[in-house]
Amino acid sequence: MIKAISYLGLGTMGQGMASNLLKAGYKLTVWNRDTEKCEPFARNGARVADTPADAVSGVDLVLYSLSDDQAIDEVVFGAKGILTAIKAGQIAIDMSTVLPATSLREQEAYAKRGVDFLDAPVFGSKNESAKAKLWIMAAGNKAIFEEVKPVLEHLGQTVHYFGKNGNAAAMKLVGNLIVALEMEALAEGLVLAQKAGLDLNTVMEVVKVADFRSPLLVSNGGNILKRDFSTSFALELMLKDADLIEKFGENLESPIPALQVVKTNLAAAVALGFGKENASAVIKALEKEAGVEVKARPAS
Ligand code: NAP
Repeated sequence: MIKAISYLGLGTMGQGMASNLLKAGYKLTVWNRDTEKCEPFARNGARVADTPADAVSGVDLVLYSLSDDQAIDEVVFGAKGILTAIKAGQIAIDMSTVLPATSLREQEAYAKRGVDFLDAPVFGSKNESAKAKLWIMAAGNKAIFEEVKPVLEHLGQTVHYFGKNGNAAAMKLVGNLIVALEMEALAEGLVLAQKAGLDLNTVMEVVKVADFRSPLLVSNGGNILKRDFSTSFALELMLKDADLIEKFGENLESPIPALQVVKTNLAAAVALGFGKENASAVIKALEKEAGVEVKARPAS
């Protein structure tokens, strides 16, 4: 039974997940590059590790959520990385959004040390992470999945098993393709509505109820109208994911023409300096081109 867990990467997503592990009563070790983010966890009884290698000491399970492949290279494969210290019998789970090929590279390296590995990326954002309402996908050895499932159930509202390693990472890219296209559709639609002189509050009322409604459109549309671009999922991470989806699509010779358009707009918004804002700030590239700002009229 899993009792002691380490969590590496206390960013937007990791913070919520690590807090929920503490609340669930697991003995927790944390590590983050910027050590300040460890302080609230130390105050609540977690051990703060000095390095990723140190973080794996004495735990049954190692979880991490890191930005991108470069972060995985440093934290997992680096000189003081997880792989230098993890031992047979321990389990590792990567919850980041990475290429399926990266998950497979991780799995191979862990297997050489007798360590079981799952790729287990998530849907949901800052709020869902904080409230343990993520939608989690996991892939790898089925028996190991069954062993860690109770832990994942403390982090998410659903946990889906996807079979062999790399498949959960692939599902995450499939989902993020849909997310990116939805966000672009919302941005283009709102700019067009603004140009057409429509009342944007009424536009969003329709978006909330019509047959194309979705929680993503409703929450991001509402925030755009308030000009609230505070970060749940950073624009620069969505651009990173667009790169991953492009590589993944190309490898499989699967057409993704709309994604290419979204990627251009994401890159334009990042170039305008909005990379750290929420992904919905992709609308700012379109607004610049259209010469408008999408904003709700104050109630009269
Ligand atoms: P974030 O807030 O930017 O946090 C990124 C984490 O990675 C931080 O802990 C950061 O450390 C660490 N990191 C980055 N580069 C590193 C490096 N070279 N070495 C060591 N640590 C490094 O990102 P997030 O939103 O939590 O996302 C984490 C992962 O989940 C990403 O793969 C993202 O695509 C995915 N995801 C995000 C969301 C979302 O809505 N936010 C939803 C689903 C999936 P520092 O604190 O030191 O910078």
